[in-house]
Amino acid sequence: MLRRIDEIFAETARQTGIADLDGRVRSAFESVPRHRFVSSAAQDFAYRDSAFSIGYGQTISQPFIVALMTQLAEISDTAKVLEVGTGSGYQAAVLAELAHQVYSIEVVAELASAASALLAELGYDDVQVRCGDGFAGWAEHAPFDAILVTAATPRPPPPLVEQLARGGRMVLPLGRPAETQDLALLTKDDDGEVSIRSILPVVFVPMIRNRASNG
Ligand code: SAH
Repeated sequence: MLRRIDEIFAETARQTGIADLDGRVRSAFESVPRHRFVSSAAQDFAYRDSAFSIGYGQTISQPFIVALMTQLAEISDTAKVLEVGTGSGYQAAVLAELAHQVYSIEVVAELASAASALLAELGYDDVQVRCGDGFAGWAEHAPFDAILVTAATPRPPPPLVEQLARGGRMVLPLGRPAETQDLALLTKDDDGEVSIRSILPVVFVPMIRNRASNG
């Protein structure tokens, strides 16, 4: 799986501006047992560079995309990170290998509780999963050094931009569902100025609104 990720990093280097997979991100990938996050039907393929269905119309993202988003977010070991779209919990586990604390929000209650239980079983005590609408972020734990949104939205949700720390980085697929989206890197400088750079065309499931309350 890592070899394929290396190949795609090399193939997309001109577009992404990233030459290769960072050593810390590589170790994080080596540590997370991806087969635990995919269905029993997908066991034999767990370490292929593919997305898989996880039920409820949702998917576990392709490892290359998880790697790219993680690397773009430049997660330090002191970072507090927010993920929107817990899904299987795989991206949250990768983030937890790198960050100090990870908060993840999932709108589908069944996925939120399954991911939460699996992450606890695997010993990821630094991850908190909550069921709710990720559009609103998680104000009580803000500001976040990095925010990863793993479902597509036409524009960056204003509460998430607000909850991003100065000097922070947000990685998110921008665009309409049923179209190719742009994986975007949103940065907030030390004066609070926001800028957005488009990195690579991607395809994500759309962000769903109002399926759950924000608690
Ligand atoms: N990060 C996941 C992949 C997630 S796919 C993984 O590593 O497996 C996108 C996820 O976003 C889906 O589980 C979907 O239910 C969730 N989602 C969609 N809209 C959301 C919203 N408004 N708030 C929180 N989660 C949302």
